[in-house]
Amino acid sequence: MKILYFKLLSFAVCVLFLCCSDKIDFTESIDVMNSPEYLLTKSGPWDINQFERGVIYSNTALKNDIDSLCALHLSHIEHAARLTGMTQEGIDLMPKFNIWLFKDIDDKYRKTQLKSIHCISDYNAVYYPAEESKSAHEYGHLLAYYNWGHMLNRKYSLFLDEAFAYYVDEGRAFKFEYYEKAKEILDNDGYAVSKILAGETPFDLFANKGRKKAFVCAAFIKYLVNSYGIEKFAGLWKAVRKNDSGAFQQIYNKDMPELEQEFYRFLKIDL
Ligand SMILES: [Zn+2]
Repeated sequence: MKILYFKLLSFAVCVLFLCCSDKIDFTESIDVMNSPEYLLTKSGPWDINQFERGVIYSNTALKNDIDSLCALHLSHIEHAARLTGMTQEGIDLMPKFNIWLFKDIDDKYRKTQLKSIHCISDYNAVYYPAEESKSAHEYGHLLAYYNWGHMLNRKYSLFLDEAFAYYVDEGRAFKFEYYEKAKEILDNDGYAVSKILAGETPFDLFANKGRKKAFVCAAFIKYLVNSYGIEKFAGLWKAVRKNDSGAFQQIYNKDMPELEQEFYRFLKIDL
């Protein structure tokens, strides 16, 4: 999985499910093709359905499934919003989402140049092939940015930003418990939280080992949130956005190695 930063638009490009598709030589830029104007006028036809949290633009081939897709995305939005600590009042006041649903991965690739699910915060938009709608991942990104700001610190773009989106997907795209998953993965100490944060090996989410790191980091986030609350996690996110020196100590009154050891003790592993 990669996060790509474009000059004008903030993309979070997230590969949850690998796929293959023939390469196409596109004549327009990725920015242009992902704009609402272009999608509406050049990439239709779309069915357009308003719902309480936004608008769903769906490939007309999805007509028969639109009610269940709408319910699924509505549930993701409220789930992700609650995990960022938003109140019901805050949820009711947040901007509406624009949800682009493609018939399948190939349809999405032809229309957006991207095979994976992704989001663009400038449009408060998510882009999903319909079959990946079980994932709340992109709402995790958008709601984190909305509440805490974009993660500007590259060191944490995967450790916190990507991992938070994974955290949101526990029980949704991923039907297993993250502490158990982390224990399994941490059998290999190469996946220790501190080693992942230090970037000792690339956090390449296109590779299986990258996915394992995402689960360990997501489990660590779950531990931080469950033990110390979402407010402190939000504080950590905001603190590390530009400069992380002393951020863990400042927020948690413990440094990163202490928190890491606490996490391992909680998991009942020795590392
Ligand atoms: Zn992502």
